[in-house]
Amino acid sequence: MAWYCSGSTNNELVENLVKVELIKNERVKEAMLGVDRAHYAPSRPYSDSPQRIGHGATISAPHMHGQACEYLIDHLQPGSQVLDIGSGSGYLTHVFANLVTAPGSSDQGQVIGVEHIPELVELARTNMNNSDDGRKLLESGKVKFITADGRLGWKEGAPYDAIHVGAAAEQLHPLLIQQLRAPGRLFIPVDSSDDESLTSSVGGGQYIWVVDKKADGSVHKQKVFQVKYVPLTDAPRS
Ligand code: SAH
Repeated sequence: MAWYCSGSTNNELVENLVKVELIKNERVKEAMLGVDRAHYAPSRPYSDSPQRIGHGATISAPHMHGQACEYLIDHLQPGSQVLDIGSGSGYLTHVFANLVTAPGSSDQGQVIGVEHIPELVELARTNMNNSDDGRKLLESGKVKFITADGRLGWKEGAPYDAIHVGAAAEQLHPLLIQQLRAPGRLFIPVDSSDDESLTSSVGGGQYIWVVDKKADGSVHKQKVFQVKYVPLTDAPRS
């Protein structure tokens, strides 16, 4: 689906994603129109494909960013608390922030980006500083980037209404489910296995799993579609 949605401007790219119904929700569309990808993917910003951002990482393709927002949208309300694991370029962190904060409002929405490569944490901050609204989100603390192993979540900011994982995990890390609010939703790519218990990482592709913690605390897991993400790993030794 990659190249079909590419555009020559940010608006064209987002409109193309809307046309093919990869983006259906009006709030998702507005949030993505509000963040110029040129600040996050300088080489081919409006191409609907992943781009290298250094350190073995990529900024995911726009259609994946759109899909992540679509699946999480009910939990991305003004005032929501969000965790973005493997925040990389910081692009999606910024889009989430547009959804959970209103400019100038006093609502307490916050997005925490967790990334294990310190240079990428710096890159994400630099990228956000490229725009006035990005800079304000950082200055107000409505967006925070933390250097840490995202497989552990970030308990200091929990509970989260929404948790997004931007790299493929070997398993549905239990700490992430623990850190969800009830109700709350986790969007996570997981290495495939036919084992329903998800304890084995052996096997072919990766699938997005959507995990809902309902208001009564019960947990429901759903395997939704196949994907290709970089792995969620140990940090490289420096
Ligand atoms: N959402 C980001 C995706 C970046 S690619 C974007 O679109 O820009 C996935 C990111 O996950 C990489 O930046 C990689 O460094 C990071 N990552 C991999 N393993 C991690 C871990 N254990 N903890 C935190 N971040 C991790």
